[in-house]
Amino acid sequence: MNYYLTETEEMVKGLFSEYVDKRIIPLRAELDEKDVFPEELFKEMAAQDFFRIMIPEEYGGMSDSIMVSTLGIEELSRGDGGIGVTFAAHTITSKGIVLYGNEEQKKKYLPGIADGKLFTAFALTEPGAGSDAAAIKTRAVKKNGGYVINGTKQFITSGEIADICLVIANTDPDKGYKGLTAFIVEKGTPGFSVGKKEDKMGIRSSVTNELIFDDCEVPEANILGELGQGFYIALGLLDRSRIGIGAQALGIAQAALDESINYSKMREQFGKSISAFQGIQFMLADMGTSIEAARALIYQASRNVDSGEKNLTTGSAMAKLYATDMAMQVTTDAVQIFGGYGYMKEYPVEKMMRDAKVTQIYEGTNQIQRIVIASKLLK
Ligand SMILES: Cc1cc2nc3c(=O)[nH]c(=O)nc-3n(C[C@H](O)[C@H](O)[C@H](O)COP(=O)(O)OP(=O)(O)OC[C@H]3O[C@@H](n4cnc5c(N)ncnc54)[C@H](O)[C@@H]3O)c2cc1C
Repeated sequence: MNYYLTETEEMVKGLFSEYVDKRIIPLRAELDEKDVFPEELFKEMAAQDFFRIMIPEEYGGMSDSIMVSTLGIEELSRGDGGIGVTFAAHTITSKGIVLYGNEEQKKKYLPGIADGKLFTAFALTEPGAGSDAAAIKTRAVKKNGGYVINGTKQFITSGEIADICLVIANTDPDKGYKGLTAFIVEKGTPGFSVGKKEDKMGIRSSVTNELIFDDCEVPEANILGELGQGFYIALGLLDRSRIGIGAQALGIAQAALDESINYSKMREQFGKSISAFQGIQFMLADMGTSIEAARALIYQASRNVDSGEKNLTTGSAMAKLYATDMAMQVTTDAVQIFGGYGYMKEYPVEKMMRDAKVTQIYEGTNQIQRIVIASKLLK
């Protein structure tokens, strides 16, 4: 399918694709096994200016187009789902500063992000507030012209490597979700520490942490947007980040199809390659078709954001829902095509199946996406 990408989009896709083939695919099994953040690879990506694609030119970047980020995330995830989500989470927190930051905050943080020197994390989820994000208990109380934050954030992507975290806290519990405010909290701020590192089923090159705020004092200047705007900022970012998770799922699924095609041509049973059997051909045809359908939805949702469309929520939820359910099915089918070898760690597809699972869970579970979509349909 031709998606008529612009010259810049083709260039970014090509650069990321080349890097993935050369540097990430040869290392992906090791990254999964080691379960650590691949710092060296991220330094290399910074040297190749990969982080400039999330920042506008005036702050040292080269683009703040969601379509460009989508292509970058899709390609990185074709190499490794963990690297893909690390990049996606960083993109979206950076987007928070681009969209809602004041000039001072943009000048302070965006050039460092573009250079690859500053890394970010987005901290919304809490032990008692997952799908119900409005139930956030982390408190921020005004004191000495600043705010004192107390609470715990759960399952935060890149928590331990982030230089700055975007933290959603409650500044006025009487106002419900209208009492939530977004704060920028810098690493090293007294009272801010990183807790447990999660031991995960998949995306193991991405680190996931608990974040602890214990009388953590931040200046008022670190409020992102307005006091009480935190819930709307979170929703505005989720409209964009759900497309990124869709792109992650798409990249994982594409890798699973690529591996399945190669394996089915090579593996022989009953005197011929298994790709000669219609049972396998139909599986490959369905995998290819659903991948392309997901790609069309994700690219269109990205174009909607870049065109300044106002209502992004339904399109983003549909793209995320379809692409992530698709990736789970396609990676499961890939394991089936590989037969017993697919179940073994020696081959890459069982990792892809493990990596795909989480895409149905984070950035709003797929039940939550269905609730969002149905509420629009039934309006
Ligand atoms: C690897 C990983 C990385 C993550 N990274 C981040 C991050 O960087 N920042 C961040 O803020 N969060 C992050 N999260 C958190 C993630 O967004 C939440 O896990 C997710 O939103 C679900 O919340 P929960 O885990 O508390 O599940 P729950 O909300 O407890 O849901 C449990 C089950 O109940 C279902 N359910 C809940 N409510 C309803 C309903 N109304 N109707 C039907 N079904 C319902 C859910 O779909 C799910 O199946 C991450 C999670 C993981 C696993």
